[in-house]
Amino acid sequence: MGKTYRDKQHLLVEDEPEGPLAELAEGLIVDGSRGMYRVETELGPLTCTIRGKLRKELIYGESRATLRSVRKVNVKPHDPVAVGDRVRVLPTGHGVGVIEEVVARAGGAFSRRDPDPKQGRLTTVAGLDQMVLVFATRDPEPHLGLLDRFLAVAEAQQTQAIICVTKADLGVPAWLAERLDVYRRLGYPIVWTSIATGQGVDELRALLAGKTSAFLGKSGVGKSSLLNAIEPALEQRVSAISAATGKGRHTTTSTRLFPLGGPSGGYIADTAGIRALGLEREVEADLDHYFREFRPYLGACALADCTHTHEPGCAVYAAARAGEIDAERYDSYCRMRGAASALDAAYDDAG
Ligand code: GDP
Ligand code: ZN
Repeated sequence: MGKTYRDKQHLLVEDEPEGPLAELAEGLIVDGSRGMYRVETELGPLTCTIRGKLRKELIYGESRATLRSVRKVNVKPHDPVAVGDRVRVLPTGHGVGVIEEVVARAGGAFSRRDPDPKQGRLTTVAGLDQMVLVFATRDPEPHLGLLDRFLAVAEAQQTQAIICVTKADLGVPAWLAERLDVYRRLGYPIVWTSIATGQGVDELRALLAGKTSAFLGKSGVGKSSLLNAIEPALEQRVSAISAATGKGRHTTTSTRLFPLGGPSGGYIADTAGIRALGLEREVEADLDHYFREFRPYLGACALADCTHTHEPGCAVYAAARAGEIDAERYDSYCRMRGAASALDAAYDDAG
């Protein structure tokens, strides 16, 4: 008798945490926006809405007596989920489901200001593992100032950056090889590719396997050609989508993830949604930290709020003067802070 009872209790205890949770499927949001998402789950793709409670913020009363009563319910202006988020979904049948929970957000997230200033920021893509920063050896000419901006954004997102130089078959100018050596010494991986010779394609494919990556680079550097070389199905899908939605694409609020083939999987984020990548204010505020070689000097400046652009007793400036920090990287930093290069001024003074 007693034994049966205990067994029942045991069963109850065992069942409890699994009960409702067992019905939820975990998945990855690969497409969608504004309350309707496509989630890849172990049960297959599901078209999902979001549970209302996820969109609501409950604000509780301040005093002890009212602590347990809800004072106000705010409905968030933006969905709390984005493409790239891992979520738990309640399948409701016929390929449809409801997003119940967001698994803690990992990896880089891009957000941008809503066109409506009252709406704040919206996330266009989350869960990025790495950014592939694409430049050509020429046609178009590489601009490493842009590379410095991209790298700062990657650092701000705590996302791995990979530098990819395309069109290696057109010849590598000595100045470019020399400059990129600076970045290699900073620890950024560099891949040289060519779709004409196939150079670097396997190497890049291996770096993408099992990761969610975004390709960033000016138009014409060879991003589509490279995606095509990595996996033909991929480029066709990306361009089919872009062509189908035409010019309006960049105004949509979200981006998409395209699955990579191969045993390790992985995704490529369609960069249309993050085309307007700029340095946002929050990046600028901590910009010195996003130049990784500055970090050992931060805190050693005479002024606590040193911007490292003109202040006396600046340790970063001193390091740049001494050649411990690359002068062109320091110039990039100054330009990104909207300041003239302090080094240029110093050289002018020196004659
Ligand atoms: P995207 O705008 O970045 O997607 O660039 P595309 O992939 O459309 O390429 C732009 C142009 O560069 C096309 O004419 C390509 O044929 C050419 N291109 C791309 N990759 C290479 C390469 O590795 N070598 C050479 N020589 N040309 C390339
Ligand atoms: Zn300083």
